[in-house]
Amino acid sequence: MTPIPLVDLAAQHRQVADEVAAGWAEVLAGTAFVGGPAVSAFEAEFAAYTGAAHCVGVGNGTDALELALRAAGVGPDDECVLPANTFIATAEAVVRAGARPVLVDCEEDTGLLDVAAVSGVVSDRTAAIIPVHLYGQPAPVERILPLAREIGAIVLEDAAQSQGARRHGVGAGALGDLAATSFYPGKNLGAYGDGGAVLTSDAELAEHVRLLGAHGSPRKYEHTIVGFNSRLDTLQAVVLSAKLKRLEGWNTARRAAAARYGELLAALPEVTLPVVLPGNEPVWHLYVVRVPDRDRVLAHLQANGIGAGVHYPAPVHRTEAFAWLGYGEGDFPVAEKVGGELLSLPLFAEITPAQQERVVETLAEALR
Ligand SMILES: *Cc1c(COP(=O)(O)O)cnc(C)c1O
Repeated sequence: MTPIPLVDLAAQHRQVADEVAAGWAEVLAGTAFVGGPAVSAFEAEFAAYTGAAHCVGVGNGTDALELALRAAGVGPDDECVLPANTFIATAEAVVRAGARPVLVDCEEDTGLLDVAAVSGVVSDRTAAIIPVHLYGQPAPVERILPLAREIGAIVLEDAAQSQGARRHGVGAGALGDLAATSFYPGKNLGAYGDGGAVLTSDAELAEHVRLLGAHGSPRKYEHTIVGFNSRLDTLQAVVLSAKLKRLEGWNTARRAAAARYGELLAALPEVTLPVVLPGNEPVWHLYVVRVPDRDRVLAHLQANGIGAGVHYPAPVHRTEAFAWLGYGEGDFPVAEKVGGELLSLPLFAEITPAQQERVVETLAEALR
């Protein structure tokens, strides 16, 4: 039986292949590989798409988080609040900016950060709150902003998994003070290599991010601050512009596929379905259910050619890299409990009803 991958990047590439080839040929002919009109064009298109006034392309999503924090003045002696159940990059970026991650638990049904828990850990050291739009649905940023304003912290959205998602009609990336996104190939808007961007409606912050990512250099060979080299490649910008035109269509197809899973999985009472927070238009970066005896179920799916996965096998505080934060088992009971049950099922814009039926049949077999 043909395997069903978790994501099918080949199916997506076929749709943009000609446009990408033509765009790349132009870049290669002009030998302008860094910066140039393709990058500024994509930045303008993506800003307009999300509703943020400014978009600054950077090297990857982790850099986007770090540079956004640095541009907002977050550094040593500062604390940044983030959910324990996120991809490791959210915590890494905080440490790389010189600050300390302070973790909070998540809501059991949505996996989004527990807003009430945030108010329990903020202090006069809190410089940023970083809600993660996990699996493609926005966190309730409007419930975090008042607290952030009160303590003088910024809200930085980790929007790596939510390109095109909306909350109460507002685009993910335009909900907080700043947002960071990633164009890692498997994201909803993925490049053909690494890429990322910072979004903000604050012109000064945008300019600061741009300065940080370009050797602290506002003009060639003039350096006003010590910066980094973190820019969006021209070749990647060409890919991203081609894909951005199709993103709404792809996200619509993902929503239809998610709805179809909902119908098919209703027959399996052991499976807990993902919950959408009211007010959200999710883009289903991942379709994550919860099942008993997860590791056995996962092994059965994989043995039968179903590219299921786990996002993520360990919350931040249970990784070796972040043991030094000093948290222990039981500190974030929801993230820990749910973590053992999570199962991501294959979902991409081109997935067929027949493929989804096979995924659900194989899952039913595993649960019998
Ligand atoms: C992918 C991802 C990142 C980091 O992106 P990279 O481009 O891989 O550095 C950050 N946060 C979350 C939630 C992600 O899924």
